[in-house]
Amino acid sequence: MTYSLAIHGGAGTLLKENMTPEQEAAYHDALARALEAGEAILRESGSAMDAVEAAVCALENEPLFNAGRGAVYTSEGTQEMDAAVMDGRDRRAGSVAGVFGPKNPVKLARAVMERTEHVTLIGPNALEIARKAGLEFGDRDYFFTQSRWDALQETLAMRARGEVSDDPARRHGTVGAVARDVGGNIAAATSTGGMTAKAPGRVGDTPMIGAGTFADNATCAVSATGHGEVFIRWNAAGEIAARMRHAGEDLATAADHVVLQDLAPNDGSGGVIAVDGAGNIAMPFNSQGMYRGSVRQGSAPETNIY
Ligand code: ASP
Repeated sequence: MTYSLAIHGGAGTLLKENMTPEQEAAYHDALARALEAGEAILRESGSAMDAVEAAVCALENEPLFNAGRGAVYTSEGTQEMDAAVMDGRDRRAGSVAGVFGPKNPVKLARAVMERTEHVTLIGPNALEIARKAGLEFGDRDYFFTQSRWDALQETLAMRARGEVSDDPARRHGTVGAVARDVGGNIAAATSTGGMTAKAPGRVGDTPMIGAGTFADNATCAVSATGHGEVFIRWNAAGEIAARMRHAGEDLATAADHVVLQDLAPNDGSGGVIAVDGAGNIAMPFNSQGMYRGSVRQGSAPETNIY
């Protein structure tokens, strides 16, 4: 069996005319590094779970993306991160919501899966698990990015003027990875800072199993990015798997249906990356762009924005 890996760095209003060639190159390079981090594991016959964790860690460490180091700010100027992992072998899953501290929230999600009997943890006990697992912590300076801070000020100023131009596509971003390993197992991981100027305590789709993250060898592994509230209400990731399981749809048909027919008409801008048990990849989105990349055993890695 051959391996495949797909990653995303968020979807939204990504217009070529708003991007300098240097910015474009920086995104492509960052995506390529994350693909390589995941592929290095798959190449050595490592597990899909290890590969998606490594790819997401690389994206979390990159201030360009809204996760880990580059996380966006809440309306109060704090940062609250959500992350999840799911293993397609046995549907084991772990997630955290609203955490600040661990440099790689995806590692904490995995620690919840492996070290506790629960699926989702929040609050001080989630951080306690991170400490027990020996995870690295960062402070406010580590997580500070000027562009995210400026984005918060702009959004707050717009709100103060009573402008509802809160185009959700402008405010989001997330990172994720899905993989199939040479053993035929699949896994998904997603990590996010959420949406700029979100209310403190707001939890998005990312850590909700079946909404922003899902994996089951029998169908597919999915990592979503987009307007989280809508992805939750449409049970986006789980619905793709359900269409495959119950309606017999193939991966591309099921993923397209959910992204284009269910989410798009209902204010659910964004997209998903998905891989099925046979290693096929689908990456549909209904926004102008989605930072994404994929690689299959025996082919060269590809990264795209628009
Ligand atoms: N889905 C994420 C959230 O709602 C944001 C994003 O993917 O852009 O928290």
